[in-house]
Amino acid sequence: METVVIIGSGCAGWIAALYAARANLNPLLLTGAQPGGLLTTTSIVENYPGFPDGIDGTELMLRMQKQAERFGTRTQYGVNITRVDFSARPFKLWADDELIETRAVIIAVGASHRHIGLKSEELLERKGVTYCATCDGALPMFRNQPLVVVGGGDSACEEALYLTHFGSKVYLVHRRDQLRASKIMAGRALGNPKIQPVWDSVVGDILDVKQDKVVSVKLRNVKTGAISDLACAGVFVAIGHVPSTNLFKGQVEMDADGYIICKKGTYTSVPGVFAAGDCVDRIYRQAITAAGTGCAAAIDVERYLAR
Ligand code: NAP
Repeated sequence: METVVIIGSGCAGWIAALYAARANLNPLLLTGAQPGGLLTTTSIVENYPGFPDGIDGTELMLRMQKQAERFGTRTQYGVNITRVDFSARPFKLWADDELIETRAVIIAVGASHRHIGLKSEELLERKGVTYCATCDGALPMFRNQPLVVVGGGDSACEEALYLTHFGSKVYLVHRRDQLRASKIMAGRALGNPKIQPVWDSVVGDILDVKQDKVVSVKLRNVKTGAISDLACAGVFVAIGHVPSTNLFKGQVEMDADGYIICKKGTYTSVPGVFAAGDCVDRIYRQAITAAGTGCAAAIDVERYLAR
């Protein structure tokens, strides 16, 4: 029987583990399919406190892991949780065939990349369509080629800036005529001579499936309705995220978009099940806020178990 199982290994998960371990709760952390979470797909993190020169996203997560493990966190990699049952105590989690029983759970599963929703997007994934410039930007197929980034937030700006090191030109395709990104990121992106914004436009299709590689995108201007083709070798989709909470549907209360609803601190609708980080937060979604709610979740677990 476990005391507390933490599901997810982004900022929220590791900081929850750090605090739970220091509270002698002997936490078990299940990393999920992407150890370190979304921050491992970013380049330099410039806004995490304590790193005035910035820090590589993967390095930051490895440091958090080391810190959590130093106090006794047990880490299990690659555990595929197929089902949970929070209707009775102890709570039950099935990791493939293995049953894990626990007195408390912290859900810190984060979010995954939102897709545009095109058939061609699906067919051309890893053949020119990608959701991570830092992971794929340096591939030979993108070098000295025109590239498209879709989105207008901080992620899109970051991806576009990173891709200027590899592509001949980077088109930033955004559905409005103003970026959502923070001023500093927007200023950097729009000030870069290799980045050309394409305003008021959405990607209606990605061509060409038969050739098995991306050759262009079909754009639709949302104001004029005009359709145009833009030649490119890669499409980097950066249009936000969706919470990775499918596993918990019907178990804890969620909103219509799948964000877990916490009413008091990190308490979900099931006493003993807590949630933290991007799977809860549709507003701030920063490394530091996820880390903060991870800390809060561990404190809430400690108090819940001490009742
Ligand atoms: P975001 O801020 O939610 O931005 C998503 C962008 O995609 C928006 O511009 C949105 O358009 C657009 N979009 C959404 N759905 C779309 C669709 N179906 N088709 C076309 N465009 C669509 O997401 P994000 O950029 O991934 O950032 C997430 C959070 O992480 C933010 O809080 C951000 O500050 C943070 N972040 C920070 C940094 C940094 O500080 N360096 C880097 C990356 C991320 P609209 O503008 O019209 O809504």
